[in-house]
Amino acid sequence: MKVKYLGTGASEGWPGIFCGCQYCKEARKRGGKNIRTRSGTLINDSLMVDFPPDTYYHVINFKIDLSQLRHLVITHSHGDHFYTKDLALRRSVFAHLDEGSMLDIYGNKAVESIMNEIINNNTVLKEYINIHYVPPFETFEAGDIKVTPLKAQHDRNEDCYIYIFEDTDGKRMLYGNDTGIFPEETWEYIKGHYFNLVSLDCTAGPDQDGNYHMGLPDDIKVKERLIEIGCADEATKFVVTHFSHNGRLLHDELVELAKPHGFDVAYDGFEVFV
Ligand SMILES: [Zn+2]
Ligand SMILES: [Zn+2]
Ligand SMILES: [Zn+2]
Repeated sequence: MKVKYLGTGASEGWPGIFCGCQYCKEARKRGGKNIRTRSGTLINDSLMVDFPPDTYYHVINFKIDLSQLRHLVITHSHGDHFYTKDLALRRSVFAHLDEGSMLDIYGNKAVESIMNEIINNNTVLKEYINIHYVPPFETFEAGDIKVTPLKAQHDRNEDCYIYIFEDTDGKRMLYGNDTGIFPEETWEYIKGHYFNLVSLDCTAGPDQDGNYHMGLPDDIKVKERLIEIGCADEATKFVVTHFSHNGRLLHDELVELAKPHGFDVAYDGFEVFV
């Protein structure tokens, strides 16, 4: 399985679009891995997780041909993960696509209803986009990737999801942002699943949260529990992502903090192979 992180920032990006804090100033100055766009990920070049407002930039920067994308899995309806204005451009005359080429979008009830409203006002989109509500804990197939939505601990106004992705080689990833420490029903479900790759929320940086997002102390707790229940072992790769300037630590400082605990720190363009 190949996983490419396109964006690794929280909702405002880092530097924050309007922010003048010292951590954003420092990120602007240092550049490189300290520049974090809004979160999106590509799995095996065939499935995209989330559609942030920086997707256009990702397409240019990483030379991605979205005319070939068939499967888009959405975690939740927050604007940094689901930017619908650009999704509405997947239709004639904005996009010239192969005959019958559809984009299947999978998500929770909030994603389904937002997308349906857009399609009702823009009926041509129906010929280009399929919307699928996917219930939690029910596995479905998106092309040749098996996908299972799990409940996250995030915005209580909707059923936010994290996901299990499994490819044809049997490699399995637990994709865990945006979320605090997982709800018990999610822990219950993942018992008995082994993960080759675990990707976790680290919005709070060095601080503890666990309720809406996670910081490294929460990531460590989640890692320990995953190992304890047999979902992971020393061969499992652990990655942290979704960082905010409010977590203060820039890339190199995060690496220094996370490395002794066995976590790789994602950055925009970071690729992992398992
Ligand atoms: Zn987010
Ligand atoms: Zn800032
Ligand atoms: Zn969110």
